[in-house]
Amino acid sequence: MAIDPIKLRAPQVEEIVPKHWYNIVPDLPEPVPPPRKPDGSIVKPEELEAVFPKELVRQETSMERYIAIPEPVRQAYLEIGRPTPLLRARRLEERLGTPAKIYYKYEGVIPTGSHKANTAIAQAYMASQEGIERLTTETGAGQWGSALALAGALFGIKVRVYMVRVSYEQKPYRRVLMQIYGAEVVPSPSKLTSVGRKILEEDPDNPGSLGIAISEAIEDALTNPNTKYSLGSVLNAVLLHQTVIGQEAMKQLELLGEEPPTHLVGAVGGGSNFGGFTYPFIKEKLRGKLDAEVIAVEPKAAPSMTKGVYAYDYGDTAGLTPLIKMHTLGHRFIPPPIHAGGLRYHGVAPTLSILLNHGVVKPVAYKQTEVFEAARFFAQAEGIVPAPESAHAVKAVIDLAREAKKKNEKRIIVFNLSGHGLLDLKGYEDYLAGRLEDTEPESFDLSYLPKVEG
Ligand SMILES: *Cc1c(COP(=O)(O)O)cnc(C)c1O
Repeated sequence: MAIDPIKLRAPQVEEIVPKHWYNIVPDLPEPVPPPRKPDGSIVKPEELEAVFPKELVRQETSMERYIAIPEPVRQAYLEIGRPTPLLRARRLEERLGTPAKIYYKYEGVIPTGSHKANTAIAQAYMASQEGIERLTTETGAGQWGSALALAGALFGIKVRVYMVRVSYEQKPYRRVLMQIYGAEVVPSPSKLTSVGRKILEEDPDNPGSLGIAISEAIEDALTNPNTKYSLGSVLNAVLLHQTVIGQEAMKQLELLGEEPPTHLVGAVGGGSNFGGFTYPFIKEKLRGKLDAEVIAVEPKAAPSMTKGVYAYDYGDTAGLTPLIKMHTLGHRFIPPPIHAGGLRYHGVAPTLSILLNHGVVKPVAYKQTEVFEAARFFAQAEGIVPAPESAHAVKAVIDLAREAKKKNEKRIIVFNLSGHGLLDLKGYEDYLAGRLEDTEPESFDLSYLPKVEG
């Protein structure tokens, strides 16, 4: 077996990383409704190009089933640690006394600690090919911001991250990580944009929100030369980039000689790690070649899949983005401050929404205390401290494994552990001190949603 002398890795390992991304759009049971304006008219691809790189817009609207991964992107995937490992949670199985086999794909080995670099790298590369010099984005807790900061450093693109002010002040470590990679991190609302200045004039102590930060990042991209905006979830193209996760997992199960999975599980914020992991399997399920239950997990504090409506809504709080059709709690929804910051978004990806409507994907919701309890049980068995977001998948998997024991069923459960929680220990500290709250929003006022049919 020839070993690469630099990476000390067998070429067979590198072949696990796919050469194409998988686009689920042509395989869905119905077409994805196009983005629209408030008057109901369809947003044209050229209009999206004001904000996003052209190639990203092409991928966003593509009906090709497979899109080639550019070689420099695939090379960068190899360099940051792809293929990520597929691990068997043997000790967890033993401690649960379950007849089920449990496997997990571990995205936490990537330098920024989660799957988000898979799309950040693709987006920074596309920008570099189109002469774009700067990318702007928003970040809440900082996971997406740090992924884009890393990608910018790799491909020579300047990155400016508008970081929600409370997080900027209270969560310094992800800010420092972004700054190490050379990104400029600005607390939002800021004086750099007219949106930010207006908010600060009215309320100098405004703590900021993801909605405000998105508005600032988009305004920055629209008003500065050679600058585009970058988004870390929800878009078809972002889920497309993440399909390296599921394609690798399928190949790894095959190399292990394992039977096809009976259950696939992932946590959902906007849907990118879930879609990236499950869509290559769902392709087989839709063709009748795989009989697996596919389970999407969300927090009860932000239950867009289990309690939301399927409607056209804005992607941001301020209403600057096009309207997209999705399961939503309404763009003005303010979630309780749970620690799984990446799962607080008000909507989910349009492709995932269609799969939910057709019963291909089954949603479940959990409270954060039971989620942290499951994550701690997992950490003691497997060593990895899950990100609070990923911990939602862990909780669902433990429930499935216990059910398998009760029914004496031989299940093969495979889940995506989207990231580690070593920069989220505050949440664990609160859990250990018994300080976590399980507030659930009681009702959702959706009367303000724009009335757009389609
Ligand atoms: C951001 C994030 C999520 C949620 O975002 P998706 O787009 O739904 O994947 C989940 N897990 C981790 C570790 C994250 O950083």
